[in-house]
Amino acid sequence: MATIGFVGLGNMGGPMAANLVKAGHVVNGFDLSQAAKDHLKEAGGTPVETLAEVASGADVIVTMLPAGAHVRKVYTGEDGLFAHARAGTLMIDSSTIDVESARAVASAAEVAGMAMVDAPVSGGVTGAAAGTLTFMVGGPDEAFAAAKPYLDIMGKTIVHAGGAGNGQAAKICNNMLLGISMIGVCEAFVLAERLGLDHQKLYDISSTASGQCWSLTTYCPVPGPVETSPANRDYQPGFAAAMMLKDLKLAQEAASTSGASTPLGAEAAALYNLFCNAGEAGTDFSGIIRFLRGNE
Ligand code: NAD
Repeated sequence: MATIGFVGLGNMGGPMAANLVKAGHVVNGFDLSQAAKDHLKEAGGTPVETLAEVASGADVIVTMLPAGAHVRKVYTGEDGLFAHARAGTLMIDSSTIDVESARAVASAAEVAGMAMVDAPVSGGVTGAAAGTLTFMVGGPDEAFAAAKPYLDIMGKTIVHAGGAGNGQAAKICNNMLLGISMIGVCEAFVLAERLGLDHQKLYDISSTASGQCWSLTTYCPVPGPVETSPANRDYQPGFAAAMMLKDLKLAQEAASTSGASTPLGAEAAALYNLFCNAGEAGTDFSGIIRFLRGNE
């Protein structure tokens, strides 16, 4: 069994760390929040007070932090993980961050003699608790192979997307597509309402026709056709609009630095920004249909 350091024990990191404990590993966890550390203790892990203690004796370190700036600081800061971990430690960053930060930290890992992968996830808090997350992984083959047994504990689908930063690239490309497709499906239902076409009729037709997509058939934004979709629970998340906006902004940043043309991605980011600013940041992202209908 391995000794695992874990940094960032929030909504996602907390249950992920708990699953590593459940699998029999020793988990030394750090978070700025005392409550998060208390939860780790309840789950059978060991809360520690510094990054140096996280790194001490660790075979593997997992991080699950809010954004690129946190990740850069935790890894490359003066008192960060690279300064304290022994050479060869495997580092897994599962935070969703910008591709540039992921690649910069991966380069610093190489210089420090560490193996590192970026491994952002989809599947949300439920997937984190159930150990059924999807991991999109970027990094060298050997680092991926070393990380896979640990990712298998926390997730169900583990995909190697290529070199450093490609896990983040996969995540933002997918979520940009999801944001755009959700708005498209919402617009189709709003138009159908105005034209007197029943929700269920549009669903029955489009779900087997060329308009078919995940946003329609798994996550339908109107109540009725898909029992499990948040539309049936007054748009309780699920996947909050604020999270979708974060990913769409990351996609726009990446489009701008790489020169990719993503006009619909830009429009989706602008619409989710308006939706969040209308007080709906905590609403499921499919709730944007109410905003598009104009009945907010
Ligand atoms: P969260 O805010 O619940 O957790 C982040 C934790 O990091 C907090 O407990 C915070 O105290 C801690 N933290 C921040 N800076 C720190 C530092 N310097 N040292 C130690 N701890 C620090 O967020 P979350 O929902 O768990 O999300 C974490 C990451 O996972 C984000 O990048 C998010 O985009 C991504 N993600 C979240 C979801 C979701 O449904 N919540 C889904 C997929 C991906």
